[in-house]
Amino acid sequence: MIPYGRHSISDEDIEAVVAVLRSDFITQGPVLPRFEKVIARHVGAAHCVAVNSATSALHISLLSLGVGPGDLVWTSPITFVATSNAALYCGAEVDFVDICPDSFNMDMKALAEKLEMAKTEKRLPKVIIPVHLTGRSADMKALDVLRKIYGFKVVEDASHAIGADYDNQPVGSCAYSDLCVFSFHPVKIITTGEGGAITTNDHALGRKLAALRSHGITRDPDEMERNEGPWYYEQQRLGFNYRMTEIQAALGLSQISRLGRFVAHRSELAKRYDQLLADSDFVRPLLDTDDNLSSWHLYVIRLPEGSGTLARRHLFEKLRSDGIGVNVHYIPVTRQPYYRKLGFVPDCFPVAENFYERAISIPLYHDMTESQQDTVVQCLLGPAGYQTIF
Ligand SMILES: *Cc1c(COP(=O)(O)O)cnc(C)c1O
Repeated sequence: MIPYGRHSISDEDIEAVVAVLRSDFITQGPVLPRFEKVIARHVGAAHCVAVNSATSALHISLLSLGVGPGDLVWTSPITFVATSNAALYCGAEVDFVDICPDSFNMDMKALAEKLEMAKTEKRLPKVIIPVHLTGRSADMKALDVLRKIYGFKVVEDASHAIGADYDNQPVGSCAYSDLCVFSFHPVKIITTGEGGAITTNDHALGRKLAALRSHGITRDPDEMERNEGPWYYEQQRLGFNYRMTEIQAALGLSQISRLGRFVAHRSELAKRYDQLLADSDFVRPLLDTDDNLSSWHLYVIRLPEGSGTLARRHLFEKLRSDGIGVNVHYIPVTRQPYYRKLGFVPDCFPVAENFYERAISIPLYHDMTESQQDTVVQCLLGPAGYQTIF
Protein backbone atom coordinates (compact mmCIF):
# COMPACT_ATOMS: atom_id res chain seq x y z
CA MET A 1 0.00 0.00 0.00
CA ILE A 2 1.32 3.47 -0.90
CA PRO A 3 0.00 5.57 2.01
CA TYR A 4 -1.44 9.08 1.56
CA GLY A 5 1.01 10.39 4.17
CA ARG A 6 3.84 9.01 6.21
CA HIS A 7 6.54 10.14 8.61
CA SER A 8 10.21 10.09 7.64
CA ILE A 9 12.54 8.92 10.41
CA SER A 10 16.33 9.10 10.05
CA ASP A 11 19.12 7.44 12.04
CA GLU A 12 19.81 10.86 13.59
CA ASP A 13 16.20 11.03 14.80
CA ILE A 14 16.58 7.63 16.45
CA GLU A 15 19.91 8.60 18.05
CA ALA A 16 18.39 11.82 19.41
CA VAL A 17 15.56 9.89 21.05
CA VAL A 18 17.90 7.25 22.46
CA ALA A 19 20.15 9.96 23.91
CA VAL A 20 17.20 11.36 25.87
CA LEU A 21 16.22 7.90 27.07
CA ARG A 22 19.74 7.51 28.48
CA SER A 23 19.67 10.97 30.10
CA ASP A 24 18.38 12.17 33.48
CA PHE A 25 15.14 13.66 32.16
CA ILE A 26 12.59 11.98 29.95
CA THR A 27 10.08 14.73 30.63
CA GLN A 28 10.37 18.36 31.86
CA GLY A 29 14.07 18.60 31.00
CA PRO A 30 16.30 20.82 28.88
CA VAL A 31 15.38 19.58 25.38
CA LEU A 32 11.84 20.97 25.28
CA PRO A 33 12.92 24.62 25.73
CA ARG A 34 15.52 24.10 23.02
CA PHE A 35 12.90 22.70 20.65
CA GLU A 36 10.62 25.65 21.43
CA LYS A 37 13.40 28.15 20.73
CA VAL A 38 14.19 26.52 17.40
CA ILE A 39 10.52 26.53 16.34
CA ALA A 40 10.19 30.21 17.31
CA ARG A 41 13.37 31.10 15.41
CA HIS A 42 12.29 29.07 12.38
CA VAL A 43 8.95 30.84 12.04
CA GLY A 44 10.10 34.25 13.23
CA ALA A 45 7.88 34.44 16.33
CA ALA A 46 8.91 35.76 19.74
CA HIS A 47 7.54 32.82 21.76
CA CYS A 48 6.72 29.15 21.36
CA VAL A 49 4.94 26.76 23.74
CA ALA A 50 5.06 23.07 22.77
CA VAL A 51 2.35 20.68 23.98
CA ASN A 52 1.22 17.07 23.55
CA SER A 53 -1.01 17.67 20.49
CA ALA A 54 -2.40 20.38 18.23
CA THR A 55 -5.78 19.64 19.78
CA SER A 56 -4.43 20.62 23.21
CA ALA A 57 -2.72 23.60 21.59
CA LEU A 58 -6.02 24.81 20.12
CA HIS A 59 -7.79 24.28 23.44
CA ILE A 60 -5.39 26.34 25.55
CA SER A 61 -5.01 28.93 22.80
CA LEU A 62 -8.71 29.68 23.02
CA LEU A 63 -8.62 29.62 26.83
CA SER A 64 -5.67 32.03 26.86
CA LEU A 65 -7.79 34.47 24.83
CA GLY A 66 -10.54 34.18 27.43
CA VAL A 67 -12.98 32.09 25.37
CA GLY A 68 -15.74 30.65 27.53
CA PRO A 69 -19.49 30.12 27.75
CA GLY A 70 -21.43 32.75 25.84
CA ASP A 71 -18.60 33.34 23.36
CA LEU A 72 -18.65 32.50 19.66
CA VAL A 73 -15.79 30.91 17.70
CA TRP A 74 -15.91 30.64 13.91
CA THR A 75 -13.85 28.38 11.67
CA SER A 76 -13.98 26.53 8.35
CA PRO A 77 -16.24 23.48 7.93
CA ILE A 78 -13.47 21.79 5.91
CA THR A 79 -11.12 20.89 8.73
CA PHE A 80 -10.43 18.11 11.18
CA VAL A 81 -13.00 18.04 13.98
CA ALA A 82 -10.30 19.04 16.50
CA THR A 83 -10.46 22.68 15.34
CA SER A 84 -14.07 23.28 16.29
CA ASN A 85 -14.07 20.78 19.18
CA ALA A 86 -11.49 23.01 20.91
CA ALA A 87 -14.08 25.80 21.09
CA LEU A 88 -16.69 23.40 22.47
CA TYR A 89 -14.22 22.30 25.20
CA CYS A 90 -14.24 25.93 26.36
CA GLY A 91 -18.03 25.96 26.55
CA ALA A 92 -18.19 28.37 23.60
CA GLU A 93 -20.56 28.17 20.66
CA VAL A 94 -19.19 27.25 17.22
CA ASP A 95 -20.17 28.46 13.79
CA PHE A 96 -18.61 28.02 10.37
CA VAL A 97 -17.78 30.11 7.32
CA ASP A 98 -17.92 28.53 3.87
CA ILE A 99 -14.74 27.92 1.86
CA CYS A 100 -13.33 29.32 -1.41
CA PRO A 101 -13.79 26.90 -4.29
CA ASP A 102 -10.16 27.33 -5.43
CA SER A 103 -8.09 27.32 -2.24
CA PHE A 104 -10.42 25.24 0.00
CA ASN A 105 -9.68 27.80 2.74
CA MET A 106 -12.12 30.12 4.49
CA ASP A 107 -13.82 32.46 2.00
CA MET A 108 -13.09 35.98 3.22
CA LYS A 109 -15.99 37.46 1.19
CA ALA A 110 -18.40 35.04 2.86
CA LEU A 111 -16.80 35.94 6.18
CA ALA A 112 -17.26 39.69 5.57
CA GLU A 113 -20.98 39.15 4.86
CA LYS A 114 -21.44 36.91 7.88
CA LEU A 115 -19.67 39.43 10.14
CA GLU A 116 -21.89 42.26 8.94
CA MET A 117 -24.98 40.21 9.76
CA ALA A 118 -23.54 39.15 13.11
CA LYS A 119 -22.89 42.78 13.96
CA THR A 120 -26.52 43.74 13.48
CA GLU A 121 -27.56 40.72 15.55
CA LYS A 122 -24.92 41.61 18.19
CA ARG A 123 -23.45 38.11 17.88
CA LEU A 124 -19.92 38.81 16.73
CA PRO A 125 -17.32 36.04 17.19
CA LYS A 126 -14.63 36.42 19.83
CA VAL A 127 -12.14 34.31 17.87
CA ILE A 128 -11.83 33.23 14.25
CA ILE A 129 -9.71 30.17 13.39
CA PRO A 130 -8.55 30.11 9.75
CA VAL A 131 -7.30 26.65 8.75
CA HIS A 132 -4.38 26.52 6.31
CA LEU A 133 -5.75 23.52 4.48
CA THR A 134 -3.20 21.27 2.75
CA GLY A 135 -0.41 23.59 3.95
CA ARG A 136 -1.43 26.65 1.93
CA SER A 137 -2.12 29.76 4.00
CA ALA A 138 -5.59 31.25 4.12
CA ASP A 139 -5.98 34.85 2.93
CA MET A 140 -4.61 36.35 6.13
CA LYS A 141 -4.37 39.91 4.78
CA ALA A 142 -8.09 40.00 3.98
CA LEU A 143 -8.78 38.50 7.41
CA ASP A 144 -6.62 41.18 9.01
CA VAL A 145 -8.69 43.94 7.41
CA LEU A 146 -11.83 42.39 8.93
CA ARG A 147 -10.11 41.86 12.28
CA LYS A 148 -9.42 45.60 12.48
CA ILE A 149 -13.06 46.42 11.72
CA TYR A 150 -14.79 43.86 13.96
CA GLY A 151 -12.20 43.34 16.70
CA PHE A 152 -12.06 39.53 16.90
CA LYS A 153 -8.92 37.57 17.78
CA VAL A 154 -7.23 35.21 15.29
CA VAL A 155 -5.83 31.74 16.02
CA GLU A 156 -4.32 30.09 12.95
CA ASP A 157 -4.81 26.33 12.68
CA ALA A 158 -1.53 25.72 10.88
CA SER A 159 -1.52 21.99 11.68
CA HIS A 160 -0.71 21.37 8.00
CA ALA A 161 1.51 24.34 7.42
CA ILE A 162 4.82 24.33 9.29
CA GLY A 163 7.42 25.24 6.67
CA ALA A 164 4.95 27.23 4.56
CA ASP A 165 5.40 30.92 3.69
CA TYR A 166 2.81 33.65 3.34
CA ASP A 167 3.45 37.25 2.33
CA ASN A 168 7.20 36.55 2.42
CA GLN A 169 7.09 35.44 6.05
CA PRO A 170 6.96 31.96 7.53
CA VAL A 171 3.55 30.73 8.67
CA GLY A 172 3.80 30.97 12.47
CA SER A 173 5.30 34.47 12.49
CA CYS A 174 1.85 35.66 13.63
CA ALA A 175 2.11 38.73 11.41
CA TYR A 176 -1.69 38.66 11.04
CA SER A 177 -2.74 36.62 14.07
CA ASP A 178 -2.58 36.40 17.84
CA LEU A 179 -1.56 32.74 17.99
CA CYS A 180 -0.57 30.04 15.52
CA VAL A 181 -0.95 26.29 16.14
CA PHE A 182 1.10 23.46 14.59
CA SER A 183 0.61 19.68 14.73
CA PHE A 184 3.40 17.11 14.87
CA HIS A 185 1.23 14.04 14.28
CA PRO A 186 3.11 11.53 12.06
CA VAL A 187 1.17 12.37 8.89
CA LYS A 188 2.06 16.08 9.21
CA ILE A 189 5.23 17.77 7.90
CA ILE A 190 7.45 17.03 10.91
CA THR A 191 6.57 14.68 13.75
CA THR A 192 7.06 14.06 17.47
CA GLY A 193 4.77 11.00 17.48
CA GLU A 194 2.01 13.07 19.02
CA GLY A 195 2.60 16.74 19.63
CA GLY A 196 1.84 20.33 18.83
CA ALA A 197 3.05 23.86 19.40
CA ILE A 198 1.76 27.40 19.60
CA THR A 199 3.69 30.47 18.49
CA THR A 200 2.93 34.07 19.43
CA ASN A 201 4.53 37.50 19.66
CA ASP A 202 2.54 38.34 22.80
CA HIS A 203 4.62 37.74 25.91
CA ALA A 204 1.65 37.64 28.29
CA LEU A 205 -0.18 35.08 26.13
CA GLY A 206 2.98 32.97 25.99
CA ARG A 207 3.20 32.95 29.80
CA LYS A 208 -0.48 32.03 30.11
CA LEU A 209 -0.09 29.17 27.65
CA ALA A 210 2.95 27.83 29.49
CA ALA A 211 0.92 27.75 32.72
CA LEU A 212 -2.22 26.26 31.12
CA ARG A 213 -0.11 23.43 29.67
CA SER A 214 0.90 22.37 33.19
CA HIS A 215 -2.10 22.60 35.55
CA GLY A 216 -2.16 26.41 35.58
CA ILE A 217 0.93 26.33 37.77
CA THR A 218 3.70 28.93 37.77
CA ARG A 219 7.08 28.67 39.49
CA ASP A 220 8.22 32.11 38.38
CA PRO A 221 8.55 34.32 41.53
CA ASP A 222 7.72 37.41 39.43
CA GLU A 223 4.31 35.94 38.62
CA MET A 224 3.36 34.73 42.11
CA GLU A 225 1.00 36.38 44.56
CA ARG A 226 3.11 35.20 47.50
CA ASN A 227 6.38 33.37 47.93
CA GLU A 228 6.54 30.93 50.81
CA GLY A 229 10.00 29.56 50.00
CA PRO A 230 12.08 27.73 47.45
CA TRP A 231 9.57 24.82 47.33
CA TYR A 232 6.70 27.12 46.54
CA TYR A 233 4.61 27.19 43.36
CA GLU A 234 1.21 28.64 42.64
CA GLN A 235 -1.78 27.38 40.72
CA GLN A 236 -3.45 30.54 39.52
CA ARG A 237 -5.91 29.21 36.94
CA LEU A 238 -7.33 25.82 35.99
CA GLY A 239 -4.88 24.17 33.61
CA PHE A 240 -4.19 20.70 32.28
CA ASN A 241 -1.38 18.21 31.84
CA TYR A 242 -0.75 18.92 28.16
CA ARG A 243 3.03 18.65 28.42
CA MET A 244 5.29 17.33 25.67
CA THR A 245 7.91 14.80 26.85
CA GLU A 246 11.66 15.16 26.32
CA ILE A 247 11.49 12.05 24.12
CA GLN A 248 9.05 13.82 21.80
CA ALA A 249 10.94 17.12 21.91
CA ALA A 250 14.21 15.36 20.96
CA LEU A 251 12.52 13.79 17.95
CA GLY A 252 11.03 17.16 17.00
CA LEU A 253 14.32 18.97 17.36
CA SER A 254 15.99 16.44 15.09
CA GLN A 255 13.10 16.54 12.59
CA ILE A 256 12.92 20.33 12.36
CA SER A 257 16.54 20.44 11.17
CA ARG A 258 15.25 18.78 7.98
CA LEU A 259 12.11 20.91 7.61
CA GLY A 260 13.46 22.83 4.60
CA ARG A 261 14.34 19.60 2.81
CA PHE A 262 10.96 18.05 3.67
CA VAL A 263 9.02 20.96 2.20
CA ALA A 264 11.30 21.26 -0.86
CA HIS A 265 10.79 17.60 -1.75
CA ARG A 266 7.04 17.77 -1.18
CA SER A 267 6.87 20.83 -3.47
CA GLU A 268 8.78 18.97 -6.17
CA LEU A 269 6.42 16.01 -5.95
CA ALA A 270 3.43 18.39 -6.08
CA LYS A 271 4.80 20.10 -9.20
CA ARG A 272 5.37 16.71 -10.76
CA TYR A 273 1.76 15.66 -10.03
CA ASP A 274 0.63 18.89 -11.62
CA GLN A 275 2.48 18.02 -14.83
CA LEU A 276 1.54 14.34 -14.86
CA LEU A 277 -2.15 15.15 -14.38
CA ALA A 278 -2.21 18.21 -16.65
CA ASP A 279 -4.06 16.40 -19.48
CA SER A 280 -6.56 14.66 -17.21
CA ASP A 281 -10.03 15.88 -16.29
CA PHE A 282 -9.11 16.12 -12.62
CA VAL A 283 -9.12 19.58 -11.09
CA ARG A 284 -5.65 20.09 -9.63
CA PRO A 285 -4.86 22.21 -6.56
CA LEU A 286 -3.56 25.78 -6.84
CA LEU A 287 0.16 26.05 -7.45
CA ASP A 288 2.45 28.12 -5.25
CA THR A 289 2.58 31.83 -5.92
CA ASP A 290 5.36 34.25 -4.92
CA ASP A 291 3.48 35.30 -1.80
CA ASN A 292 1.92 31.95 -0.87
CA LEU A 293 4.25 28.95 -0.68
CA SER A 294 2.51 25.81 0.56
CA SER A 295 4.20 23.21 2.76
CA TRP A 296 2.29 20.65 0.63
CA HIS A 297 0.95 18.56 3.48
CA LEU A 298 -1.73 17.17 1.15
CA TYR A 299 -2.29 16.93 -2.59
CA VAL A 300 -6.06 17.11 -3.14
CA ILE A 301 -7.50 16.49 -6.59
CA ARG A 302 -11.16 16.92 -7.42
CA LEU A 303 -13.32 15.05 -9.90
CA PRO A 304 -14.84 17.36 -12.52
CA GLU A 305 -17.87 19.40 -11.47
CA GLY A 306 -21.05 17.37 -11.81
CA SER A 307 -19.36 13.92 -11.65
CA GLY A 308 -21.64 12.89 -8.82
CA THR A 309 -20.84 11.27 -5.51
CA LEU A 310 -20.97 7.76 -6.97
CA ALA A 311 -18.05 8.51 -9.32
CA ARG A 312 -15.86 9.62 -6.44
CA ARG A 313 -16.77 6.51 -4.51
CA HIS A 314 -15.92 4.20 -7.44
CA LEU A 315 -12.58 5.88 -8.05
CA PHE A 316 -11.76 5.86 -4.35
CA GLU A 317 -12.55 2.15 -4.03
CA LYS A 318 -10.58 1.29 -7.16
CA LEU A 319 -7.52 3.19 -5.93
CA ARG A 320 -7.71 1.54 -2.52
CA SER A 321 -7.97 -1.90 -4.14
CA ASP A 322 -4.95 -1.00 -6.32
CA GLY A 323 -2.96 -0.39 -3.12
CA ILE A 324 -3.12 3.40 -3.26
CA GLY A 325 -3.88 4.77 0.20
CA VAL A 326 -6.13 7.63 -0.82
CA ASN A 327 -8.17 9.59 1.69
CA VAL A 328 -10.70 12.43 1.91
CA HIS A 329 -9.77 15.64 3.75
CA TYR A 330 -12.23 16.44 5.11
CA ILE A 331 -15.79 15.37 5.71
CA PRO A 332 -17.39 18.76 6.54
CA VAL A 333 -17.54 19.02 10.32
CA THR A 334 -21.21 20.05 9.99
CA ARG A 335 -22.00 16.53 8.66
CA GLN A 336 -20.84 14.82 11.86
CA PRO A 337 -23.70 13.44 13.96
CA TYR A 338 -22.43 15.36 16.99
CA TYR A 339 -22.60 18.65 15.08
CA ARG A 340 -25.95 17.82 13.47
CA LYS A 341 -27.30 17.49 17.00
CA LEU A 342 -26.04 21.02 17.61
CA GLY A 343 -28.32 22.08 14.77
CA PHE A 344 -26.04 22.21 11.71
CA VAL A 345 -27.40 21.12 8.36
CA PRO A 346 -24.95 20.49 5.52
CA ASP A 347 -26.87 22.78 3.13
CA CYS A 348 -25.59 25.83 5.05
CA PHE A 349 -22.19 25.55 3.40
CA PRO A 350 -22.68 24.63 -0.27
CA VAL A 351 -19.09 25.21 -1.42
CA ALA A 352 -17.77 22.93 1.33
CA GLU A 353 -20.34 20.29 0.37
CA ASN A 354 -19.38 20.52 -3.30
CA PHE A 355 -15.69 20.18 -2.39
CA TYR A 356 -16.41 17.19 -0.17
CA GLU A 357 -18.29 15.35 -2.93
CA ARG A 358 -15.40 15.64 -5.37
CA ALA A 359 -12.19 15.62 -3.32
CA ILE A 360 -9.60 12.85 -3.03
CA SER A 361 -6.22 13.24 -1.31
CA ILE A 362 -3.62 11.26 -3.22
CA PRO A 363 -0.32 10.10 -1.66
CA LEU A 364 2.31 12.74 -0.88
CA TYR A 365 5.07 12.31 1.69
CA HIS A 366 8.78 12.93 2.01
CA ASP A 367 10.05 9.41 1.31
CA MET A 368 7.77 8.91 -1.71
CA THR A 369 9.75 8.02 -4.84
CA GLU A 370 9.02 9.19 -8.37
CA SER A 371 8.29 5.59 -9.31
CA GLN A 372 5.68 5.34 -6.53
CA GLN A 373 4.24 8.60 -7.80
CA ASP A 374 4.10 7.17 -11.34
CA THR A 375 2.21 4.17 -9.97
CA VAL A 376 -0.35 6.49 -8.36
CA VAL A 377 -0.80 8.42 -11.60
CA GLN A 378 -1.11 5.22 -13.66
CA CYS A 379 -3.84 3.97 -11.35
CA LEU A 380 -5.61 7.32 -11.55
CA LEU A 381 -5.50 7.46 -15.33
CA GLY A 382 -5.38 3.73 -16.02
CA PRO A 383 -7.86 1.75 -18.14
CA ALA A 384 -9.96 0.35 -15.30
CA GLY A 385 -10.04 3.70 -13.57
CA TYR A 386 -11.39 7.10 -14.09
CA GLN A 387 -11.71 7.06 -17.90
CA THR A 388 -14.03 4.04 -17.97
CA ILE A 389 -16.24 5.33 -15.18
CA PHE A 390 -17.47 8.23 -17.28
C1 LIG B 1 -4.07 17.12 12.60
C2 LIG B 1 -4.94 18.28 12.77
C3 LIG B 1 -5.38 18.73 14.01
C4 LIG B 1 -5.12 17.98 15.29
O1 LIG B 1 -3.80 17.69 15.47
P1 LIG B 1 -3.33 16.69 16.63
O2 LIG B 1 -1.89 17.04 16.79
O3 LIG B 1 -3.54 15.31 16.10
O4 LIG B 1 -4.14 16.97 17.83
C5 LIG B 1 -6.12 19.90 14.09
N1 LIG B 1 -6.45 20.58 12.98
C6 LIG B 1 -6.08 20.16 11.75
C7 LIG B 1 -6.44 20.98 10.56
C8 LIG B 1 -5.34 18.99 11.61
O5 LIG B 1 -5.01 18.56 10.39
